Amino acid sequence: MQHKFLEVFLESTAKYGAPYGPVRRNGVLTYDRVEKISDLVLSGEKTMIPAKKLFHPMRFDVFKFNEDGFTPDYSSIEKRVIIGLHPCEIHGLLKLDRIFDNPPADPYYMGQRKNSIIIGWSCAVCQNGLCKSTGTDIVEEGFDLFFVDVGEFYLVWIGSSIGYDMIHDKEEFFESTVTRDDLDAYVDWRARRDSSFMKSFNFRNMPDIMDMSYQSPIWEYFANKCISCGQCSMVCPTCNCYNITDHFDVSNANTGRRERYWDSCMFMEYSLVAGGHNFRGARADRLKLWYTHKLKTFGSQYAKPGCVGCGRCVETCPVDINVLTISEALTTGEVPKK
Ligand code: SF4
Ligand code: SF4
Repeated sequence: MQHKFLEVFLESTAKYGAPYGPVRRNGVLTYDRVEKISDLVLSGEKTMIPAKKLFHPMRFDVFKFNEDGFTPDYSSIEKRVIIGLHPCEIHGLLKLDRIFDNPPADPYYMGQRKNSIIIGWSCAVCQNGLCKSTGTDIVEEGFDLFFVDVGEFYLVWIGSSIGYDMIHDKEEFFESTVTRDDLDAYVDWRARRDSSFMKSFNFRNMPDIMDMSYQSPIWEYFANKCISCGQCSMVCPTCNCYNITDHFDVSNANTGRRERYWDSCMFMEYSLVAGGHNFRGARADRLKLWYTHKLKTFGSQYAKPGCVGCGRCVETCPVDINVLTISEALTTGEVPKK
């Protein structure tokens, strides 16, 4: 598809659902509902908070309750077309699907998933992108359409029957024949992209290294730096823990609402149980849990990588604890100098 048709084509998808995608709000790129397709920022730039927030919101009411029982609140679930998800975001959602669709399925997350059409977007390599290392730099499932901007035109991959219908509705915008030159342009684009990654780590070796490093003093070194702020969990596309709190109405102690909000295993209270016992009171134990999930357990449990290489932990942790510094220290067995 030629670039000049893009906006009109995306506008035509409104009949499938409300448009969502990356937009700038107060100077910050974030996923949100858009009023106009022209407001979308379809580029290689990534948001600070990943697309998980559209399916697993930061904070929402799950139900209202009274003396007779409870009424689920599904009011935020609507038909949506989510435009502009990069491969790492789609891999993050595929991973969350395995968790939230595990019986009993989470009706809030799965409700949003079943009502959302995904239009994926190719990205330029970002400064801290590690997706080549984690094998999540391309995506073959989890989208209805996927646009690759090879320069002069978009190569559009169809991933579902709805994606096919979207194209069929506006087939005058698309060339159905893919020529040798088109494929060469794609191969060139892939080669340029593959050679532009600036950072990497040996993700494949990490499960074994994690196994052998449980007693490593390196954990204590990082624990002394960590301030338990939980930012790594907030920005990671595959972190999914949440807490719930009941709020009672002031006027009636038998009625109220149950709220659900993001939590982090990096917080000390996360593993606190009745009687005051804390399974992971030590910060080193919490760090070990987080990184064991990302670099080992999720892969073996769900056959999907626990780290999708987005690089957000590299950009966000205020004390430089991230998949790169952790994997390097555990691989070399050396405590970092700085
Ligand atoms: S590892 Fe970094 S981002 Fe995560 S809780 Fe510790 S200080 Fe915060
Ligand atoms: S561990 Fe870091 S690089 Fe990997 S997906 Fe999470 S935030 Fe992104």
